[in-house]
Amino acid sequence: MQYCRDTIAALDGYVPGEQPKDRRYIKLNTNENPYPPSPAVVAALAEISPQSLRLYPDPTASALRTAAAEAFGVPADWILCGNGSDDLLTIAVRTYVDQGGALACPDPTYSLYPVLAGIQGAETIRIPLDEGFCEPRDMAARAEGASLLFLARPNAPTGMCCPRSFVERLAREFAGIVWVDEAYADFADDNCLDLVANHPNLIVSRTLSKSYSLAGIRLGFAVARPEQLRQMLKVKDSYNVGTLVQTLGKAALEDRQTALNQCRRVRDTRERLSNRLIELGFGVLPSSANFVFARPPVDAARLQADLKENGILVRHFPGPRTGDHIRVTVGTDREIEEFLHATERLLKPTT
Ligand SMILES: *Cc1c(COP(=O)(O)O)cnc(C)c1O
Repeated sequence: MQYCRDTIAALDGYVPGEQPKDRRYIKLNTNENPYPPSPAVVAALAEISPQSLRLYPDPTASALRTAAAEAFGVPADWILCGNGSDDLLTIAVRTYVDQGGALACPDPTYSLYPVLAGIQGAETIRIPLDEGFCEPRDMAARAEGASLLFLARPNAPTGMCCPRSFVERLAREFAGIVWVDEAYADFADDNCLDLVANHPNLIVSRTLSKSYSLAGIRLGFAVARPEQLRQMLKVKDSYNVGTLVQTLGKAALEDRQTALNQCRRVRDTRERLSNRLIELGFGVLPSSANFVFARPPVDAARLQADLKENGILVRHFPGPRTGDHIRVTVGTDREIEEFLHATERLLKPTT
């Protein structure tokens, strides 16, 4: 007996990267930040009064939005907070995509987008990236019929970043909402936050999961013009961000410098990792994120499994476009050194 909607029964759910507990691993598989969150977050946690937890949280998270406005350089009433940016992506689909409608996204990209479309009973128009994993110039035309277009910039799992001019042109040419998912923007050279002011159909999302080392608290932001924000506010759960998270997120954003310094360290390690992988015979895509997508000179799935045996987790995405690559999250220098040693050993034929 099937009790659920046919769409749900037929759906393949989203598969997050594994978080195994069977032994200690060097975890380079889910793009978490290897450095600790700001000491300001720890201090804020110690100061939380148990009495404050008795009450519902501020539904609009005003103090948190003020801190986010300062950090992102946008007005506070352009910011919507979410239970991670994944929550905001769900709100986006529920706000902008009808049942029987469609959303568009590049292929490959963040694999949650098609799942959200499926849950909504909508189609996904997948727009293949070119051989170099770049967005095709005629993306807006190919997305015709969709009311929402998700563009991860930098993209996942490639780490590549299309030019800002591409996003501007897309916003002009595409008839629906262009949602730029900037989960990794703090590791890139530029971002699209300032473009929201000039394009009524452009929305940008951010998260504290990666650059602020706070994947565990679940906090993301959408930056949109007030007329869009008003619509999304009707869709979100009233209390989608708890009191603890609002307090900790505010503390983290007020100490933005700690996060930015750590992003610089991650970027430095990323460059060293990329160069070493090239020396080992990998094909390495230029990354603007906190991970590197690379094609090993051996079978990628096999290498991922062998690394796991050696206590090192990296991600492998089966599929025609991605299956011959592995994605390696940038860890500490020491973790990356261990990963490189293990990889070098595994690549050498045993004699
Ligand atoms: C990690 C990631 C997210 C999810 O971020 P959360 O804020 O942790 O929900 C969203 N988009 C992309 C492209 C990501 O890689």
